[in-house]
Amino acid sequence: MRVATTPERLPAGSETGVSTLLGAPPSRPVGRGWVDAAAYGVEVPAGMTPWRADLVYRNGKRGSVRQARDICSHLGPGAYAVGGHRLLLLAAQRPADRRMLGLQLRVWHDGPPPTGSIPPTVVICAAGAAAGCGRVLGAEVVVPKGATGDVDTDLRAKAAAAMRASTERIVVHVGATDEAAHRRDPDGVVAALERLDAELLAPLREAVRAASGRLTVCPDHFTDPFNGQHDGAPVPAVVWGAGVSPAGPNRLTERAAAAAPVASAGELAALPVVAQ
Ligand SMILES: [Zn+2]
Repeated sequence: MRVATTPERLPAGSETGVSTLLGAPPSRPVGRGWVDAAAYGVEVPAGMTPWRADLVYRNGKRGSVRQARDICSHLGPGAYAVGGHRLLLLAAQRPADRRMLGLQLRVWHDGPPPTGSIPPTVVICAAGAAAGCGRVLGAEVVVPKGATGDVDTDLRAKAAAAMRASTERIVVHVGATDEAAHRRDPDGVVAALERLDAELLAPLREAVRAASGRLTVCPDHFTDPFNGQHDGAPVPAVVWGAGVSPAGPNRLTERAAAAAPVASAGELAALPVVAQ
């Protein structure tokens, strides 16, 4: 099957795709700043809006965490370096895009935080969009030691955390493939997928089998490793386990899944997902 994780006319990104997969598809563009403030534990004073900003070179290459910290010390209070090229800026009005220290500071669009009610859920992830969406939507969020949201993340720690969780629905988010694709590194995407198979999905499959549960594997959005950009097309997904009859291609590739039926966000929210 394929899943429409990005509602029509909304920008593709984890703040949209993760909210949809958790069961709260947004109806307008989500303010990533609110998601990141929740993810990184940044308190937002009354009257202020949290703005997500990226520090990039003119060619799109990302700045480093050290550069992000330098920029924050230039900007003063209310500017937070929250990991890698990512900044969070607290301001009443949208800060302007600007050039600083030879880099460009690009501020994301405005919008409300995700809203809606979701079933009891434990989200296992790094500090990032999945953590922020989970917290804003009322899920329990577990960030295991070693979870980085990047290709070096500790997938075995995520699998172990999933097995310790006792809620009916457990969502494990992995950012490694998205990050490798943003770096325009197709080989890195393949390597991340192979690690995901071996270190996360294999132990989860055994746990799900033992619990007679269901395992759903689904990206929250595409990221093209050749241009480094998100894409909001419906994503291929696998559902496996109790009560699921074999259907679809034997070997799931993007090409093989291209003709598969598309599930709507509502249908997806109603799926008894055990793990994502
Ligand atoms: Zn991304």
